[in-house]
Amino acid sequence: MLDETHDGSSLPYFSSEHEILRAQIRRFVETEIKPYAQAWEEQGFVPREVLRRMGELGFFGIRYPQQYGGSEMDVLASVVLAEELGRSTFGGVAITVLVHTDMASVHIFNAGAQAIRDQFMPDIISGKKIVAVAVTEPDAGSDVKNIRTRARRDCDDYLLTGTKMFITNGIYADLYCVAAKTAQEGRPSESISMFLVEKDRPGFRVGKKLEKHGWLSSDTAELIFEDCRIPASNLLGGEGRGFYAIMRNFQNERIVMGAMAMGEAQAAIDLTLTWVTQRQAFGSPLWSKQSIRHRLAMLAAKVEAGRQLVFHAAWLAKSGVEATREVAMVKAYCGELVNEVMHTCLQFHGGMGFMRESAIERMARDARVHTIGGGATEVMLEEIAKRMHAP
Ligand SMILES: Cc1cc2nc3c(=O)[nH]c(=O)nc-3n(C[C@H](O)[C@H](O)[C@H](O)COP(=O)(O)OP(=O)(O)OC[C@H]3O[C@@H](n4cnc5c(N)ncnc54)[C@H](O)[C@@H]3O)c2cc1C
Repeated sequence: MLDETHDGSSLPYFSSEHEILRAQIRRFVETEIKPYAQAWEEQGFVPREVLRRMGELGFFGIRYPQQYGGSEMDVLASVVLAEELGRSTFGGVAITVLVHTDMASVHIFNAGAQAIRDQFMPDIISGKKIVAVAVTEPDAGSDVKNIRTRARRDCDDYLLTGTKMFITNGIYADLYCVAAKTAQEGRPSESISMFLVEKDRPGFRVGKKLEKHGWLSSDTAELIFEDCRIPASNLLGGEGRGFYAIMRNFQNERIVMGAMAMGEAQAAIDLTLTWVTQRQAFGSPLWSKQSIRHRLAMLAAKVEAGRQLVFHAAWLAKSGVEATREVAMVKAYCGELVNEVMHTCLQFHGGMGFMRESAIERMARDARVHTIGGGATEVMLEEIAKRMHAP
């Protein structure tokens, strides 16, 4: 017998522990996010108290060891978190959390020295400290190897100089995982290192707050480093290991973004279904028009296919199977699909879909970045194409 949060489509990937987590997050989204998030859209960030509460409830530690306050679950638990936050209809809230849990703090946990992990992981998991990851620059996004930020060794310190662009949690984070070049020559893939920069380090400042098309409740900023001095112990992993760390983490990040996109797409279909069954045109509800029913039914099928691809890629990753191809498929397919869903769902809302007061209007704006951020569709298609061979 399936419980009320379980529609059967997540079998056989999820355990009862995953489903309990899903129910907890869904409850939190309904009671603590949806009623308030419009105000966060207007203020441009998610209040710290809300993030603290999520930390207290254990949502930030689902992948981390118990010794730091985590619950040691697997990548499928991150999928649950991302899907349910995606279903909130507020992409800005979802990305605020997911950058912290699955895109930024992972650099500290996976590569930080023991003392760094011991110092910071408990506060990261409890939500006392929020983390951002800063790789992208004004002249380098998809092409990570082309970053210009430099880190120069100075006795027991490093000095970081450069500018980072489009950084989620950029203004309100406490900790920044920053990519910088430690070698100017040699193989570009071996010249990048990752560093932990605490907000109060001299030489670091937030440049400007960036005004966006969507994700309005997520704070996004330009960051500036001017001979920013940090101790050498803040190097995350070895010198020259940063590019590999970024690529490794992209696997998790892209699965999570795919799950978030499918949560958003499902929520859009759900609320459009409610709309078209109530809205009357030409003497009957829109749902009575076969073309509308069929297009929604086809989108439902595609979203189900997208979800299953996310689950499968997550399961491969969890099982230790090399899944770059499947993960690239997740990112490309789900990123494009969520936009197709939003376009059609907005269409079926008619003029109301174009109004700021409708959820679908915000959701369509929020979805747009899914084909760009964290690996643009074209870059993902290259990853797939590289692995296609004529028989
Ligand atoms: C709201 C938001 C939040 C973000 N948060 C973060 C963050 O927290 N941390 C961080 O480091 N970065 C972040 N980013 C940056 C994001 O990851 C980059 O925008 C993304 O990687 C694309 O890089 P770019 O913008 O420089 O575009 P470019 O690399 O200049 O590419 C522009 C376009 O060209 C096309 N293209 C690129 N490469 C190819 C190719 N090889 N073949 C064919 N077409 C191609 C794609 O359509 C792409 O969209 C964020 C971006 C946004 C918009």
